[in-house]
Amino acid sequence: MDLCKECNSGCCRRFLVYLSGSDIIRISETLQMDLGVFVDAIPVPESKVEMHIKNRAPMFLFKEAGNKQYFVLALKSTESNLYPDASKCLFLLEFDAQQLSNGKIPHKLSRCGIHACRPYTCRTFPAMYYPKEVAVKIKDPFLLMENEHGKYSGQEPYKLCSRPLSREDFCKFSEGYVKDTVLDNYENEFFLQVAEKWNKTPGLSDNLYDFIVKEYQNRIELIK
Ligand code: SF4
Ligand code: SF4
Repeated sequence: MDLCKECNSGCCRRFLVYLSGSDIIRISETLQMDLGVFVDAIPVPESKVEMHIKNRAPMFLFKEAGNKQYFVLALKSTESNLYPDASKCLFLLEFDAQQLSNGKIPHKLSRCGIHACRPYTCRTFPAMYYPKEVAVKIKDPFLLMENEHGKYSGQEPYKLCSRPLSREDFCKFSEGYVKDTVLDNYENEFFLQVAEKWNKTPGLSDNLYDFIVKEYQNRIELIK
């Protein structure tokens, strides 16, 4: 979106980016990076397990953590280089454009460092596919911010879009958005099945990547 051009990438700072197995394999193979470098297994508090089940969030059990503690998989966050005390996605690149351009560019710049292989959550943000309605819907981040009184309100690095979204912001991408949101939904449903299978006999977290790869290798079935 043109809108993103001068933004601090607030969305890459304030939201957890949940990962599907296909995101994990794609990033790992593209960057030749082990899962442990970029994936965080985040413990789900017991009080939130039901909500995650309702939201169809894939959750994993690990042998070393016992059979009650569920985890969700998300991209790691790290400290921001540009904004003291702020955090950002591990892959968000930050530039002090003002300094680099001798003041000609009046703002800082943040850009995705893995744009070509970024997770589907990022590709589709802020759109979601609603399978029952066969519809793609967008929740305007600007309005979310306007209505919010949470911990990020008013904090510069976490600011979301600078104005409400318009239909034109998405028109030129509409085909891509629809495809990506449908795929996102499919990948999530498949990863739910992978998680269910893993959770029947949870292994050590170190073995999760190999398990995921095997499940994805087998996901196209040859019917005779
Ligand atoms: S992967 Fe890229 S687009 Fe997604 S949150 Fe990280 S920096 Fe932003
Ligand atoms: S917060 Fe809005 S304008 Fe900023 S990068 Fe994200 S989608 Fe673009």
